[in-house]
Amino acid sequence: MNARIILTSITFKFKTLFQLPLSRGKRQVLALIYLSFFASFSIAQETIKVSGQENGLVQQGKIKVWQDELSKSSLSEAHEAYIADQYTLFEKNNSTGLMEGALWSHFYLENITDSPITLHLEYVDHQVITLAAYSRVADSSQSFEQIADLSLKEPFSHRPFKHIRFVMETKLEPGQTYEYMVKFGSEGSGYIFPNLRIWSPDNLRSTQIKEALGMAFWIGGFFLMSTFSFIAGIATREKFFYAYSVYALSKTIAWITIFGYTHQFIITQNFHWSYISISGSVSIFFGILFSRLFLQTAKYTPRTDYIMLFMMANTGFLFLVALLKLKALAIISITLALLMYPVLFIAALNRWFQGSKESAVFAVAWSFLAAGMVVQALRDLGFVEHNFLNYYWPPLASYTEMVVIMVAMGLKVRLLRKQKIAAERKYRQELEQSKERLEILVKERTRDLEQEKVKAQLEACTDSLTGTRNRRSFFAESEKLLQESKMRDFSVSLLMFDIDHFKRINDTYGHAIGDEALRVFTKVIAEKIRGTDIFGRLGGEEFSLLLCGTKEHALQMAERLRKDISDIQIDTPKGPLQFTTSIGIAHLCKEAVIEELLNDADKALYVAKEAGRNKIIEYPSI
Ligand code: GH3
Ligand code: MG
Ligand code: MG
Repeated sequence: MNARIILTSITFKFKTLFQLPLSRGKRQVLALIYLSFFASFSIAQETIKVSGQENGLVQQGKIKVWQDELSKSSLSEAHEAYIADQYTLFEKNNSTGLMEGALWSHFYLENITDSPITLHLEYVDHQVITLAAYSRVADSSQSFEQIADLSLKEPFSHRPFKHIRFVMETKLEPGQTYEYMVKFGSEGSGYIFPNLRIWSPDNLRSTQIKEALGMAFWIGGFFLMSTFSFIAGIATREKFFYAYSVYALSKTIAWITIFGYTHQFIITQNFHWSYISISGSVSIFFGILFSRLFLQTAKYTPRTDYIMLFMMANTGFLFLVALLKLKALAIISITLALLMYPVLFIAALNRWFQGSKESAVFAVAWSFLAAGMVVQALRDLGFVEHNFLNYYWPPLASYTEMVVIMVAMGLKVRLLRKQKIAAERKYRQELEQSKERLEILVKERTRDLEQEKVKAQLEACTDSLTGTRNRRSFFAESEKLLQESKMRDFSVSLLMFDIDHFKRINDTYGHAIGDEALRVFTKVIAEKIRGTDIFGRLGGEEFSLLLCGTKEHALQMAERLRKDISDIQIDTPKGPLQFTTSIGIAHLCKEAVIEELLNDADKALYVAKEAGRNKIIEYPSI
């Protein structure tokens, strides 16, 4: 009970003053003191004055209400409760909050005109399940006459007035005051808005048309958005578009169900309150799913995502209890779902602070919606009054959310496209780089191979011990030079060397020193010859030199080399080593080949050996 009701009951005690055993004078004084103190708080049930021109008039503080907890009282029992002053004034234009059983309201309407009038009384919400109303001329002994017997379960066609909310008609004679008793039932527990809106029939009709047009516009928008999102989903392959498509579609269904159009046009026969909860649960479920996908909360704000998962589970629970027609649980669940809507807004803010621009736009969109949903929950719970603004706020906010979310989705698609382009560019760059790297690698490898080939070719022509030409190379090169000498007609001589007593060097100084002697021998000769001359090791301690030039030059050269060889001195552990070489010379005759030349030189060499070694012998002089 609030303060005014307490004071009203105190005022009521004033009546008992007159029953006290006091003198008349004393009673008057006490009454005066009492009245002067409480008069300002005294509230009587005022009559609502009507003229037949009403345009949705709501009269606050002029109706009294009484809760029939078991919803079993008859009209006469409810009226007796009124006589016994068990009714309290309902002063605000809001809901009772969640309550058990039925609620009876009592009020007076007075026709202040001098002609008969007809009025339509409209219930302001969709959640009440039954509404029965009775009237009679005030302060008369007439019995009440039933003017409405409405139920959400009845086929829509049974309604005397084809309106999405409950409407009843009453006729008032000129200057006459009528007393009304209205019973609101909600099957177990529910929210009840006891204040009725008073309309002239014409005003109600024109308002109803405007409302239907407004809803058609909204619902058309939702439907378009659902289609648009679906197409965008196909085009972009982004899951959140599909989620929004289903969300917008389920929102369409939920709003037309909440507002009573489903009952009026679709399920006209067997409508049930649970359809409102079922459609609401599906819509909220997909709203949260879309938010999670769009904001990527599972990846970036996992803790908020858990709360969102809980919210989705709650809508699943709502779906289930609505199917099982458990009204109290359904009401608790849907109220919780509405009150938790701001979580989606907070998630969007979080993501915005993490740097996601489209989440900022999402936050703006969802702030309207979350506020709308919370306002709806607070209105149902009776914390805020019912008025035009907060009745239409949730669908309006839902519409605004949709328009703003289009911007957010546009931004998101732009971002995704940018990311895609950047990824493609990076991929192309990497491809380019790896191509360059591959080219460099191939070049390096080719160069290595070529070097190895040259090396292998060189090795194939080179004697491994001395580094000079081997037999094969000497033959090949010499053959070429011979050909050239024949073509260009210049002289060529072949010198054949055989180190003297080489076996003895090996035996005396060891094989390694023998090798060293071979290397030094090669070096000395190589230093003395020209680039055009060809020098090579034929095998063992035998070498050959093909010289371009005259016989004289060949002889001089042989003499110089013989001397240089005999001057070689190699330090060994067994003392200094010196050795000599015998040389056989053959000069080129017409048509000779290298084998013949070698053969001739060998013969001369043999003679040089025979002649005592360290000698030079020319072939023709044998
Ligand atoms: P001559 O004055 O008659 O030519 O006497 P020689 O000892 O040089 O005669 P021969 O041709 O019979 O001996 C050549 C020796 O050279 C035989 C072999 O052991 C030695 N020899 C051959 N190739 C190599 C080599 O690559 N390294 C060393 N250390 N010795 C070798
Ligand atoms: Mg020999
Ligand atoms: Mg020898």
